[in-house]
Amino acid sequence: MPAPQCASCNKARAALRRPRSGQALCGTCFCAAFEAEVLHTVVAGRLLPPGAVVAVGASGGKDSTVLAHVLRELAPRLGISLRLVAVDEGIGGYRDAALAAVRRQAARWELPLTVVAYADLFGGWTMDAVARSTAGSGRSRSCCTFCGVLRRRALEEGARLVGATHVVTGHNADDMAETVLMNFLRGDAGRLARGGGLGSPGEGGALPRCRPLQLASQKEVVLYAHFRRLDYFSEECVYAPEAFRGHARDLLKRLEAARPSAALDLVHSAERLALAPAARPPPPGACARCGALASRALCQACALLDGLNRGRPRLAIGKGRRGLDEDGPPREAEPEASGPPASEPVPAC
Ligand code: SF4
Ligand code: ZN
Repeated sequence: MPAPQCASCNKARAALRRPRSGQALCGTCFCAAFEAEVLHTVVAGRLLPPGAVVAVGASGGKDSTVLAHVLRELAPRLGISLRLVAVDEGIGGYRDAALAAVRRQAARWELPLTVVAYADLFGGWTMDAVARSTAGSGRSRSCCTFCGVLRRRALEEGARLVGATHVVTGHNADDMAETVLMNFLRGDAGRLARGGGLGSPGEGGALPRCRPLQLASQKEVVLYAHFRRLDYFSEECVYAPEAFRGHARDLLKRLEAARPSAALDLVHSAERLALAPAARPPPPGACARCGALASRALCQACALLDGLNRGRPRLAIGKGRRGLDEDGPPREAEPEASGPPASEPVPAC
């Protein structure tokens, strides 16, 4: 049976059915609709004001590649300018290839690219060194917890370096739904309460950050990359299989099989959550060492580095310090007192 006609232009043959609506569209109309929806998310949420210098957290993966491409298309209408900021965590056999993809994108799109490295920012610590330090006699299951906190700090440093006023990351609806599930499974009411919304406003001197793809499903991000023929890196980080997030991802897939809107429903659930006053986290203070937002004496990044430098990395997570949870595979950790949690994923990290 021939494919139906595109429901939007009524000229071309449809190339897909949108997972969310079931609408049959050709590739051109789908990409136009996808871009219009991201534009609406940015404008309705007042995420990026005209004149903003926007640092795009670029990992070379599909999410940040799609985000950078869409924002580049929308930049003239939004009146913003873009900078790519990539983080080199120091993960042998993985990050070099991903960074090569980012460099190709920067050259193709003629966007300035800055790479910041953990080793330079964090006293010589790379993720491979952190993994060795935290593993003991077995494999470390807490790599992503460390990495998410440090990535957030590194991205903030890189954004400041390029004079950015705002930071954007490529989290999609599936990433956010997984984070909500993980926080539910851990009973982490504080992070659940902070996990809603499209970003954080930039409290405590941090740059405002947002997630313009937060309402786009992973399937549609992949479809957009396909129809725009985007060049991205698709291998998984060597530490990802150890992460707790994988279980949340499996659970989400099963939920979506029964209820296709499960991911977005979870995202919206988090937005609507309200905490009883007694369950609300205490108001944030400043880290005694670096001045970043902190709900304890030290912010998450300083506490983790402190534990690593003292040879007792596990003190900073899980049992040793409430507030950072082992096995939370953070792709992109938010500050302690605002926005999503230490267990948030970094898209395509
Ligand atoms: Fe870091 Fe992502 Fe690798 Fe985890 S999966 S170690 S967060 S790069
Ligand atoms: Zn600090």
